[in-house]
Amino acid sequence: MFQTLFEPGSIGKMTLKNRIIMAPISTNLAGGDGTVSDELIFHYAERARGGVGLITVENVCLAYPLACHGAAQPRIDDDAFIPGLRRLADAIHQGGAKAAAELTHPGMSAGLRYIRGETPVAPSAVPRPKDGLVPRALSHTEVVEVVGQYVQAARRAYEAGFDAVELQACHGLLINQFLSPLTNKRQDEYGGSRENRVRFLVEIVVGIKRHVGSDFPVMVRLVAEDMLEGGLTLEDGRWFARRLEEAGADAIHPDFGLGGKEKRLEPMPYPQAWRVYLAAEIKKAVSIPVIAVGVIREPRVAEEILEAGKADFVALGRALIADPDWPNKARAGEEQAIRRCIGCNECVMARHVEDAPLRCSLNATVGRRPEACRLERAKTPKRVLIIGGGPAGMEAARVAALRGHRVALYERETHLGGMLNVAAVPPGKEKLNWITEYFAHELPRLGVEIHLGEAMDAERVRALNPDVVIVATGSEPAIPDIPGVDGPNVLVAQELLARRMRFTGQRFALVGGGMLGLETAAYLATQGNAVAVLKRYETIGRSIEPLYRDHLLRDLKEHGVEIITRVEVKAIQAEGVLVRDQTGEERVVPADRVVLARGAKPADKLVQELRDFNPLVIGDAVQPRKIINAISEGFVTAQFI
Ligand code: SF4
Repeated sequence: MFQTLFEPGSIGKMTLKNRIIMAPISTNLAGGDGTVSDELIFHYAERARGGVGLITVENVCLAYPLACHGAAQPRIDDDAFIPGLRRLADAIHQGGAKAAAELTHPGMSAGLRYIRGETPVAPSAVPRPKDGLVPRALSHTEVVEVVGQYVQAARRAYEAGFDAVELQACHGLLINQFLSPLTNKRQDEYGGSRENRVRFLVEIVVGIKRHVGSDFPVMVRLVAEDMLEGGLTLEDGRWFARRLEEAGADAIHPDFGLGGKEKRLEPMPYPQAWRVYLAAEIKKAVSIPVIAVGVIREPRVAEEILEAGKADFVALGRALIADPDWPNKARAGEEQAIRRCIGCNECVMARHVEDAPLRCSLNATVGRRPEACRLERAKTPKRVLIIGGGPAGMEAARVAALRGHRVALYERETHLGGMLNVAAVPPGKEKLNWITEYFAHELPRLGVEIHLGEAMDAERVRALNPDVVIVATGSEPAIPDIPGVDGPNVLVAQELLARRMRFTGQRFALVGGGMLGLETAAYLATQGNAVAVLKRYETIGRSIEPLYRDHLLRDLKEHGVEIITRVEVKAIQAEGVLVRDQTGEERVVPADRVVLARGAKPADKLVQELRDFNPLVIGDAVQPRKIINAISEGFVTAQFI
C-alpha cells in the first residue's frame, strides 16, 4: 500500500525513510525571547513520532529584530540559541524523523509589530502593496552582511544537530524580493538581469556549502511564480531552479511568490493538490529532488503525485497539524483513521490574525502543554451517556472511550454529524463531511455504542441510569421576532440546507449576513436564483476567517448576489421584505421567498429536565459557536470524567 510514498529517498547526502516532509508551519509556540520552549518540542516530537520522514522547523529568525516574522518565533541569530535548538533537533530525531530548519527573513514584508520600531529592509525602496509603507533599501555592504547572517544561521543549525536547512525564498519574503523585478530595482550586481537578481540567493547557497560543508543539504523553498502582474513567471521559476542546482542546492520546494496569500493558505473550497503543478513545472527543469506542497490531505493523492512523477517528495503542512499520525496510519493502510484537515483555517486565524499559539479545529491537543494533552486510563470505568452526535458529542465519545469508559451515544437523527450535515451543503464546504466520516469510523472501532434515530428524554435517561450524562444536543435556528415571519414565503436557512432544497429562477431575500446567510446565498445563487442579502451593519462577515471571507465575497459577487447593508428589517410581506435604511426611508426589497439566517440558539431543553443528573453540557448546547469550540469542549470534558 502506498509503496512510492514509503520508499526511502535522498536529498543530497540526507536519506529520508519515506517521501513525506512536514512543511514549515509557524506555531507561535517558541518562548517570547525566541528560545525553544517545551511546547515547541512537544509539538514537533509528536509529529516525528507520527512517522514523517523530515520535519522542517518553522520560520526560524536569522537576524533580530529585522528578520522577525512572528509573535513567538524560534531564533537562530546567536550561538546562545544553539542548546535549545539542539534539544529540539534531538527530540525530532528520537521521534524517528530528520530535522531541517527553515531560515526566514521577511524583508519588506516584516510586520511592524514584530521588528521593534525599525523600518523593514528590502532590495529596493519600493512601497509594499499591502499598506504603501516604503522599506529601507539595503546598502551593498548590508546585502553582503545579510548573506553572512544566512550562512551563520545555517552553521548554528548544523551545530545544533539539524540535518538540513531550507531557505525561505517565496511568499514575497526577502529572497523572493531580490528575485522579483517588481521589488528589486537595484542598480548594482544584485539587481537587473535574472543572473543579478538570483545572485543574493546563490551567494547564500554557496556560502553555506563553503562554510558549513558541501554535504550539508540546502533546500530552497523557491518562488515558482509571483501572483502579481509583471512579477515572476513559471519560466523564471524554472530558470532560477536550474541556476540553484548549478550553485549546489540539494532540493527545490516550489511555491507562490509575491501576492496570492489565499492561494497558499487555501480556504476550504480549494481542491486537493491543485497547486502541485508548480512542482511538476520545476521538475522539468532540474534533476535534484522537487517537493510538492498544497492541500495534500489523503495518502492516495500523495501517492498519485509521486507515481505520476510530478515530484520526488510531498510536503504536508496543515494535514499534519490536524493529524500528526497521518504517515503511520497511511503506512498501516488505515486511511479512514486519518483526521483529514478540512481547510477551515482556524490555525491561520491564530497565527496570522491573532498572534496566538497555533490551534486546530479538529485536534484539541494542538498548541497545548504536554500535560494538558494527556489521556489517562480511567481508574474506574464509568457508563457514559452522550446525547447528541454532532462534533462535540462525537469527540467526547471518542476521548471517553479511549480512556476506557463504556460509552453510549444517542443521536435523534438517522446519521451522525449534527450541524455538520447542514454546514457541509453550501458550495465548497464538502470537506466538512470528512469530520463525520472520521468519527463514524473511529467510534465503533473504539467500542462506542451508537444509537441513531433515537431521541432521548429524561425518562429514558433515568431508565438507563448512567454514571455520567453529557448533553451535546447542539442548536436550533434563532427565529427573529419580525411581522410576517410565519408567512408561507418564509424559509429557515438551516432547514433549507438540511433538506438540500433546490430552486431555480426565483428571487430570494436573505435576512442575516453572517456566515450562514452568506453561504446560503452562495448555495441559492449557484442554482440560478437572484439573491439579495440584507444586513443590519456595514461590515460583512467580520467573524469569518479573512481568506475564506474574501473568497466567499468574490464568489457571491461573481454570482450577482446583492449585499444590502445598514438596513433594518421591519416586516416580511408577500411581495418581499420591508426594510428601513439609515435615513429612515422605508422600501420593499422584492423577493419570491425570504430566508431567515439569523443564526442559532442552544437546543438545551434536556439540560433542565436532567438537572438531577448534573449533566455536563458541551458544544452548541451551551452557546452556538465554531467547530473548534465543540471539539475542544468534547475533548476536555471527556478528559476529566
Ligand atoms: Fe486544518 Fe482547520 Fe486544523 Fe488548520 S485548523 S489544520 S485548517 S483543520
